[in-house]
Amino acid sequence: MIISVASGKGGTGKTTIATSLALFLSEEGWKKMQFLDCDVEEPNAHIFLKPQIDRSEPVNLLIPKVDEGKCTYCGECARVCAYNAIVVLKREALVFPELCHGCGGCSLLCPESAISEEKRGIGVVEEGRVGSIRFVQGRLNIGEPMATPLIRSLKRKINPEGITIIDVPPGTSCPVIEAVHKSDFCILVTEPTPFGLNDLKLAVETMKKLKIDHGVVINRANIGDDKVKEYCNKESVPIIAEIPYDRNVAVLYSSGIPMLIEGEKYRKIFGQLWASIKKRVK
Ligand code: SF4
Ligand code: SF4
Repeated sequence: MIISVASGKGGTGKTTIATSLALFLSEEGWKKMQFLDCDVEEPNAHIFLKPQIDRSEPVNLLIPKVDEGKCTYCGECARVCAYNAIVVLKREALVFPELCHGCGGCSLLCPESAISEEKRGIGVVEEGRVGSIRFVQGRLNIGEPMATPLIRSLKRKINPEGITIIDVPPGTSCPVIEAVHKSDFCILVTEPTPFGLNDLKLAVETMKKLKIDHGVVINRANIGDDKVKEYCNKESVPIIAEIPYDRNVAVLYSSGIPMLIEGEKYRKIFGQLWASIKKRVK
């Protein structure tokens, strides 16, 4: 079962809810648990889970390299590239590595076999363990725009037999789509504010388009207004948990301690959250 934890905007408490759910399930005795931190631009789940990292492997994209001795400047490579990563001039073929998705289309279709491929490092995948949880995270190189291929590499690590919790990047762009792809259920974390509502609407529409079942967790539920609840009722989006604002949780968060540590109150909330998910996921 793959459960992704997403939010239309950053700062809603997505990671603390994802890590607390993983710890809750681990404490409940679930084996073969995995946690994937796909928020590769700023992975911070490790701060809460504190895994022992035991493996690290680089992730590369294969970027075209044009052999000017063989190239006839026919322009076929530029025509097939959907990302405008190759431009062919009269006497020059220019490659823009930052735009290249490494799909290999240009080298496959070059009629002169003038294109070879060279590696370009975009980040690393790190693996480790904390208790019964196998922990996997991606780290994108600083300034690197290609988050999606790194997330794809991370997701190849999913063990289909167990429960996988995915911490999804914030927003609704391509890395989010890649991270939630093939999830059985997506938890959408929001807060009861106008910004929270606006970004929740975008996230809900995205899940509907992707046909991924989803439910909402309202974090800091006792602040703000009722507009998020009204929207969820109107759109028939289930609210699967409400977590009240608690100063103690904020203090723990600032020290990298998950809210589950705060006590029985949160265990009960995560128990109900898990029961709601199980009911919806066959
Ligand atoms: S397709 Fe091959 S031969 Fe044609 S411009 Fe591109 S690299 Fe050169
Ligand atoms: S590998 Fe794909 S994305 Fe990169 S330049 Fe070639 S066609 Fe474009």
